[in-house]
Amino acid sequence: MKSIKPFKNPIYITRPIFPELDAYTMRLKEVWESQKLTNNGDMHKLLERTLRQELKVPFLSLFNNGTIALLTACKTLGLKGEVITTPFTFPATPHALAWNNITPVFCDITSSTMNIDASKIEELITPRTTGILAVHVFGVPCDVKNIQNIADRYGLKVVYDAAHAFGVEIDGNGIGNYGDISMFSFHATKLFHTAEGGALTFSNERFKEKVDLLKNFGIRNEEEVVDVGINGKMNELQAALGLEVLSCIGEEQNKRKYLSDVYRELLSGCDGLTLPPENISDVTMSNQYFVVRIDKDLFGCSRDRVYEELKKYNVFARKYFYPLCSNYACYRDNKSSSVINLPYANRISLEVLSLPLYGALTAGDIEKICGIMTNAKK
Ligand SMILES: *Cc1c(COP(=O)(O)O)cnc(C)c1O
Repeated sequence: MKSIKPFKNPIYITRPIFPELDAYTMRLKEVWESQKLTNNGDMHKLLERTLRQELKVPFLSLFNNGTIALLTACKTLGLKGEVITTPFTFPATPHALAWNNITPVFCDITSSTMNIDASKIEELITPRTTGILAVHVFGVPCDVKNIQNIADRYGLKVVYDAAHAFGVEIDGNGIGNYGDISMFSFHATKLFHTAEGGALTFSNERFKEKVDLLKNFGIRNEEEVVDVGINGKMNELQAALGLEVLSCIGEEQNKRKYLSDVYRELLSGCDGLTLPPENISDVTMSNQYFVVRIDKDLFGCSRDRVYEELKKYNVFARKYFYPLCSNYACYRDNKSSSVINLPYANRISLEVLSLPLYGALTAGDIEKICGIMTNAKK
């Protein structure tokens, strides 16, 4: 076993895109000249228009973050009672339901995609069910056809948490066109970001007016407040940053694709290690993440052991998503949270490990990370 030295500086799973400071400063100069910092200024309008093209969606509303966007999506669709969702996600997904007084009903996931298992949704539907909130986990599309089919048969609304799916397409169709509303997060840790930010996309024109009303306190005009709204507005500084970040993502995606291929080459054929899908037919992937699964028995040591070992070398991989949302104190007493209802989600949450992936890493860095991982089992 050749000895490996720890990285001098910590390696995290991602590093945000920082566009050229000069380019951002030019945008800021325009903002200063406009004397407008928020409430649908020029940067906001331009970013909305640009993202509509980029994501290939007819309608889009910007937000100050993805979570508020998701809250607003639930409110726009009038969701109540129970909504069927996945436990294998970031806390914001079920929290957006709970903040709307909706009970999240957890459905198990499939082993191949780690997304909600469409074949298990129907048995969870009750007279109180009003919708399905599914997540395109790590940018792999959900079974959109079967989910829509179930929704149509039972008169349910469909919301997609597309926080991981910026730029993903099915058959050339932007992922934000599926379901009634999709949410994107533009948090700094996401491929495309505005430091903090997010958006809702939809194909129904009626939603545009309602969403824009709700994200601005429900204010229709100076004398009329027509709904219980919230403050979900993105400001001009964020929108300006987004416009510059957008021009960097193509190059960043190419670099991540190259580094993913290096991971693949070094880790393929390793017993007990499941790599992310490389190609899915008809799907344009975003190359945002590199998440592996470690089968303790076949690999020779546990995910937690690999995680701890990497830490010793200054590599901070993340256990996404562990713990499962259904095991949080606030949800574990829900009937649907029982481990018997969620066998795959519970198993997979013990196996997943999100590995460092961002453009500034080198093939040599990846080689070292893979070396630490394979040495861990010895
Ligand atoms: C990042 C993320 C969110 C939350 O988005 P914010 O913009 O940080 O509020 C929601 N869902 C998933 C799956 C995420 O990864």
